[in-house]
Amino acid sequence: MYAFMKTDFRYRLLFVAIGLISLMSCEQRSAEITKIRGIYGNPKPFWDKELNLNNLGVNAIFMHSGSINQDIINKARSEGLMVFAEFATLNGKNYVDEHPEAWAINEKGEKVQAASWFMGVCPTDPGFRKYRFDQLRDLLLEYELDGVWLDYVHWHAQFEEPEPILPETCFCDHCLNTFSEDSEIRLPDGTTSERAQWILNNYDDLWRDWRCKIIFNWTEEMKSLIKEIRPKALLGLYHCPWDDQEFDGARRRILGLDFDLLKETIDVFSPMVYHARMGRKPDWVHENIIWLCNRLDIKNDSYPKVWPIVQAYNDPGIISSEEFETVLRHGLSGRSSGVMMFTTYAVAEDEGKTAVMKKVYK
Ligand SMILES: [Zn+2]
Repeated sequence: MYAFMKTDFRYRLLFVAIGLISLMSCEQRSAEITKIRGIYGNPKPFWDKELNLNNLGVNAIFMHSGSINQDIINKARSEGLMVFAEFATLNGKNYVDEHPEAWAINEKGEKVQAASWFMGVCPTDPGFRKYRFDQLRDLLLEYELDGVWLDYVHWHAQFEEPEPILPETCFCDHCLNTFSEDSEIRLPDGTTSERAQWILNNYDDLWRDWRCKIIFNWTEEMKSLIKEIRPKALLGLYHCPWDDQEFDGARRRILGLDFDLLKETIDVFSPMVYHARMGRKPDWVHENIIWLCNRLDIKNDSYPKVWPIVQAYNDPGIISSEEFETVLRHGLSGRSSGVMMFTTYAVAEDEGKTAVMKKVYK
């Protein structure tokens, strides 16, 4: 990674361009024509009720990579469903307890606290990086997937709350040294907090650009691994749905998500438009998806595509069947070509929501 990261950025753009041309010519994408009518979560609650997903209009399941097994894949295939694996990427929960060197460091030089339930790891830590890439390789080798959906791809923060948690990270020695080498800037001597302050005072823009490239680099290398093992599989991204201005541009500034970079690697953007969770009105889903499709310049006949994930889950409060129908339809706004909901349990346990899903999907 690091040798690659130090390579002149122009060469990296050239690699990306070559990759895009070869991708456009191969025309072997799994989900080329079909509009995606997805569910997120283990399909078991539907199957336990002896409901056939195909009869409910569903044509794709998205589920946590750790819950996938061959029996589920076989049953899904027998119902004609595509199978996509959610892959938790930069969530370091548990990992950082055993590997303290991978703990993200804030601008005061302290280990960050978990941001509500999310524990972000340092994205440049070589050990963590190897650990995650090995997991992805094993997953791809074991199962014939239609795609992998990366989740938790951002620097340590929490955006799934009405009042997000947006700390400045990561100022560990490894990040400081890598930033210094990549940017050819000699950092002053001093404590971690002094050096962090010096960067934020003098090279704020360069620092944030570099952070975005680190995140982009994860997607770039995960894509090349997918292309090596499962060339037909898609690379999707579950991501923060904020526009370029919200929270003072925090999607790029703090999370490190630069859409102009990511649209080069990501096949499908899945904004997590959890309206109730984030304290928004259902109509916000419509506005957000229209905005995102325009922002990414989505075309009907090419990648990237937009397939949002909407909220069916009753927390906070109760999401009524009518409200669920509204956000599910809003998820197909603009040039969105698919939708899914969080979660299968929330829909399967509620006959009204199951009926709504069937009505919209059929
Ligand atoms: Zn770090």
